[in-house]
Amino acid sequence: MSDDNDFIREIRINPIVPSESVLVSTARGMRPREAEAPAPRDTREHVQRCPFCRGNEQMTPPTVAILPEDGEWQVRVVENLYPVLGDNSTSSNLVFGLQQAIDGYGRHEVIVDHPNHGIALHEMSETHLFGLLGMYRERIEALYKADARIQYVLVFKNFGPAAGASIPHTHSQIIAMPVVPENVYNEVMHSQRYYARNRQCIFCSLIDEALTFEATIYDRESGTVRRHIDVGQYVVERGRHFVAIKPFASRYEWEVHILPLSHQADFVDIDQERRTDLARVLKRTMARLDAVIGGAQYNFFLHSLPHNREFHDCGDSYHWHLEICPRTSIPTGFELGSGLFVSTISPEDAAVRLRAVDLD
Ligand SMILES: [Zn+2]
Ligand SMILES: [Zn+2]
Ligand SMILES: [Zn+2]
Repeated sequence: MSDDNDFIREIRINPIVPSESVLVSTARGMRPREAEAPAPRDTREHVQRCPFCRGNEQMTPPTVAILPEDGEWQVRVVENLYPVLGDNSTSSNLVFGLQQAIDGYGRHEVIVDHPNHGIALHEMSETHLFGLLGMYRERIEALYKADARIQYVLVFKNFGPAAGASIPHTHSQIIAMPVVPENVYNEVMHSQRYYARNRQCIFCSLIDEALTFEATIYDRESGTVRRHIDVGQYVVERGRHFVAIKPFASRYEWEVHILPLSHQADFVDIDQERRTDLARVLKRTMARLDAVIGGAQYNFFLHSLPHNREFHDCGDSYHWHLEICPRTSIPTGFELGSGLFVSTISPEDAAVRLRAVDLD
């Protein structure tokens, strides 16, 4: 869509958290160096000495939860051997904000996503992903219930060496924290403000816009068409209940968010029918990313309404979502120094390329 004569150079403000912005500059040479080729990921099915492979269960801390209950396990949850947060309240203090120290109390669990060591998410069956998402739901609920001091339960996944995965066997992590992470807090607060002004959830508004927005931008002097924005320009994948969207102002070039189409604040409220659809949309989205990037290495984060009483009245304004952030380049000094992310592919072009992948 954009060539050298018709490039985009604009700073885009994140509509949800306006303090975050991205410089979209599709001109060649904006990025001073090419991204290094990421270290190849481990694609072996079974590794003799891997603690997460079947048959090595005695190498990990005890099982916290397992799926299915009987027979060969498909998903297994264990305590993290090297927890970021733990039970022992004297052991660690976390420092936040204006050097306010908070007792480092919490829980850190590892979910072994699949018995197959090197399987990628899009290679797992939809039935398997349905079970894995159910395990996320079950553990989030259990961890909130287990201790009233828990302020947030974060589910995330690092996949591939480029995304900082320390253990190559495919796994997710759950951290029950004594504070709400700053990015979730900012989203909750800003969306509440938007709701107070517009009586509408900003995420729902963005979905509506992504699905229906259409505009032609004309050159003021000559009257020629400068840019045409198509219907569903930002949509990457769509199911009955979920949509995968390329955000208008995304930090990472291939970042994609998956959101429920109808308003829902808390991931824990997802029902079985929606979970079935989410498994399908997630699998297809990951397959698209993998095909376009050529072996996606990524982080994903589940952002959901904190259970803390402070946020009880944010149920109408906050909308849970999964943020998928593929790691394709190393941040430049400019990005680290300015806090401004640079995207050399326009989100519109990225969405076009992701949609073009033939999956069937
Ligand atoms: Zn393994
Ligand atoms: Zn909403
Ligand atoms: Zn988020």
